[in-house]
Amino acid sequence: MNPTKKILVSGASIAGPTLAYWLHYYGFDVTIVERFPELRLGGQNVDVKGPALEVIRKMNLEDAVREANTTEVGLRFVNQKNETLAEFSKESALSMTQELEILRGDLVNILYEHTKADVRYIFGDYIKDLNEQPEHMEVTFNSGKTEVYNLVISAEGIGSNTRNLVFKERVKFKYLGVYTAYLTIQKAATDSRWARWCNAPEGIVFMMRPDSYGTTRASITFLSPEKGYEKLRIAEQKQVLIDKIKNAGWEAGRLTKEISKSEDLYFERVSQVKAPLWHKGRFAMTGDAAYCATPISGKGIDLSMSGAYILAGELSMTDDYEKAFTKYENRMRGYVESSQKLPPGIPGIVYPTSGIGVNILNGLFSLVGSKPVQKLISLFTSKNKAAKSEIELPDYR
Ligand SMILES: Cc1cc2nc3c(=O)[nH]c(=O)nc-3n(C[C@H](O)[C@H](O)[C@H](O)COP(=O)(O)OP(=O)(O)OC[C@H]3O[C@@H](n4cnc5c(N)ncnc54)[C@H](O)[C@@H]3O)c2cc1C
Repeated sequence: MNPTKKILVSGASIAGPTLAYWLHYYGFDVTIVERFPELRLGGQNVDVKGPALEVIRKMNLEDAVREANTTEVGLRFVNQKNETLAEFSKESALSMTQELEILRGDLVNILYEHTKADVRYIFGDYIKDLNEQPEHMEVTFNSGKTEVYNLVISAEGIGSNTRNLVFKERVKFKYLGVYTAYLTIQKAATDSRWARWCNAPEGIVFMMRPDSYGTTRASITFLSPEKGYEKLRIAEQKQVLIDKIKNAGWEAGRLTKEISKSEDLYFERVSQVKAPLWHKGRFAMTGDAAYCATPISGKGIDLSMSGAYILAGELSMTDDYEKAFTKYENRMRGYVESSQKLPPGIPGIVYPTSGIGVNILNGLFSLVGSKPVQKLISLFTSKNKAAKSEIELPDYR
């Protein structure tokens, strides 16, 4: 028998189900355990491009992703009076709207639907303890049951608890100085197919983005020293946000009401995960749990999907799981490190803390958004240029 046959994957978001799909494809027996009682479908748009698009194509999911397009037409920077300072259509190299935009939750759902017939899913439970034996890993779940697997892989995101069971203090976080909250809100008259970005003093950025469900996806990002907000209970997180935005103007009043009644609020510190090693014995990790680069990098989906693809592929090539884990890490490390490098001043520069700072930044947005400057920039950049592949995705089949 293949000694790495039975695999437990922890976390049912992007990395977990992608990994599970490929592991099943190569003949492994896969179980996914998700801490929440159901899929977590919150969050804003994510873009599927580069390596993520390559993996999606290999999984025959491109049509499903295209169908779920958010239909966002571009990005507008607006001032406190909601006047447009600059707009960048989807075609502009400066727009964050990509050709293949999908709600994070829709992508999670597509991956779940694509794997649920072949992969055993357990919701509402999590790994409480791991006991490694020469031939297997004994897993005790929070529910009390114990099961035996050959390998356990965490795809639990930035706050991975199982990673902490195995590596304890060895994993470091590089906090980037901002918190972000995502929530789904009711559509209002000011919302359209354009995403809106508004800076407010005290280092706050609001973003409203359209979705294809008749609702709006809001995010609130703000500068702050590290406060451990991500560990608070939801009700406490809501209060932190409400206090934070109470004098922020623009549509803060509308957001305050929405925060109070939100059922999908997701509130995280924006931190990169720096782990010296991504595996130990029969345990490994992938996605944000191993190497979160943050949404600011724009690489979250690329990294989680390509890492999961490579990890499964390397496991399919050998019965020696330690060798496979090492090869996965060797293939991914350089890509992760380059993705975690952010331009100087990012993110702080886009979160001015004073009214004057906001005015200066708004002036800059207007300048860059002006037709002559956009034209000039378009001469040097193009979204349609075939980008060199960022990471090699071998054909393990
Ligand atoms: C609710 C939510 C909303 C998000 N919104 C955005 C967004 O709008 N824009 C953006 O760029 N990124 C967003 N992200 C982050 C984005 O999904 C990741 O950066 C990226 O896709 C990598 O995915 P991942 O699968 O590694 O981790 P994640 O997407 O973080 O998923 C981790 C999964 O593991 C589960 N989990 C956590 N701990 C355990 C445990 N102990 N046992 C079992 N399961 C566990 C979580 O519930 C979650 O389903 C969001 C993440 C979440 C969870």
